[in-house]
Amino acid sequence: MQHAVTRTHMIRPEKDTFLGAENPFESMMARFDEAAHHLNLETGLRRVLRHPEKQLIVAVPIQRDNGEVEVFTGYRVLYNTARGPAKGGIRFDMQVTLDEVKALAAWMTWKCAVVNLPFGGSKGGVVCDPSKMSVPELERLTRRYTSGIIDMLGPDSDVPAPDVNTNERMMAWIMDTYSMHKRHTVTAVVTGKPIAMGGSLGRKEATGRGCMIVTREALRQLKLPLQGTRVVVQGFGNVGSISAQLMEEQGMKILAVSDKDGGIYNAKGLDLADVMRHVKEHKVLRSYQQADHITNAELLTLDTDVLVPAALENVITDENAAQIRAKIICEGANGPTSADADHILQDAGILVIPDILANAGGVTVSYFEWVQDRGGYFWDLETVNSRLEKIMVSSYQECEVMASRNHVSMRIAAYMVAIDRVAQVHRLRGMYA
Ligand code: NAD
Repeated sequence: MQHAVTRTHMIRPEKDTFLGAENPFESMMARFDEAAHHLNLETGLRRVLRHPEKQLIVAVPIQRDNGEVEVFTGYRVLYNTARGPAKGGIRFDMQVTLDEVKALAAWMTWKCAVVNLPFGGSKGGVVCDPSKMSVPELERLTRRYTSGIIDMLGPDSDVPAPDVNTNERMMAWIMDTYSMHKRHTVTAVVTGKPIAMGGSLGRKEATGRGCMIVTREALRQLKLPLQGTRVVVQGFGNVGSISAQLMEEQGMKILAVSDKDGGIYNAKGLDLADVMRHVKEHKVLRSYQQADHITNAELLTLDTDVLVPAALENVITDENAAQIRAKIICEGANGPTSADADHILQDAGILVIPDILANAGGVTVSYFEWVQDRGGYFWDLETVNSRLEKIMVSSYQECEVMASRNHVSMRIAAYMVAIDRVAQVHRLRGMYA
């Protein structure tokens, strides 16, 4: 019974595709270099921003339920803390490597900076297969890992959140372990907590809501109407399903959605409420009868106005980029487009809203959670949503201006906005020696 609860939210990303296609750190840095070049960034700062500030590797020994002791490896990387405490998730996965954690920590640095949150970037992970672990084993693993990295953690230094295969339950254990060491309750040490213990209203929907807001902005930029705009969504989990629902509420038409087994499609638009009911009852889209069935590969190349990849990394590559027919791609997932595909999409005139901007709604409401915990005063949902809206709209517009001034893609513009903000703080703070 207990086991089922934790496993409902397990994601198994196909990391072989991710890591096989290209080194994640170098792929991210290719974009960094291009943006730094356009910014004319000083060589010294380029060197500083190419290196993570701190990398910790810890042994995480735990006793398995059968009495045996097993030792796991855990990582925590603080990429940059110039602008404030580091912010970044913790993932439990067999494919976790130091290179991947480093790349994701850098990614978080740019993501927080592009939406102007007073945070740096970090990431952590434990190499383990949580699908083969019981809930008590996962709790021991989470607590021992937390104690291993505890000197890095803190509301003023490093604030984790859920990521692949971790959820609000694990965040509660991290908060408890940290608080027991500090001898008092510290809710702001972690975000993505249950609402009952300091979580924020609106956090669950925040990433999808952010995707809807930036898509609306992109339609405005391209002078396309909201009403009747056709949308295709890959992935029907947290980000995909909420983006689809909120876009439909705005008057857009959802033509297709998918999960890991494939997609459903209706050229006239799906009855999304009916699809949601089906998924609530049957968990999968495969058994849905009121639409045509298509593969995930077919879904990506459908004739549509907006494509929202909201499942996995590296689904749009140099192999399929030329077949994409959408006018706008809103990157709900992290890293859905390979660096090679970027140029193909740009040459085709497709407006890509890059992941660091498109899915930053989640970290923005995590920031709100941290602010509310520190202030000890909690906001209503309208306040959360209207503040999120303001941040997403202004961030989009800043990137839009940067892109048009420098004749670069929105992705490079977003990196430029972010790197410029981090660099500016480094210049002001100077070099401590
Ligand atoms: P989720 O587990 O809720 O949903 C993932 C969805 O993708 C599921 O519908 C799953 O069936 C589908 N999927 C899995 N493998 C697939 C495949 N091979 N082809 C097509 N679909 C597949 O996860 P989520 O929280 O919605 O996250 C999705 C993406 O968004 C991830 O890249 C995640 O890192 C990113 N993201 C999430 C958040 C957040 O707040 N949840 C924030 C920022 C970025």
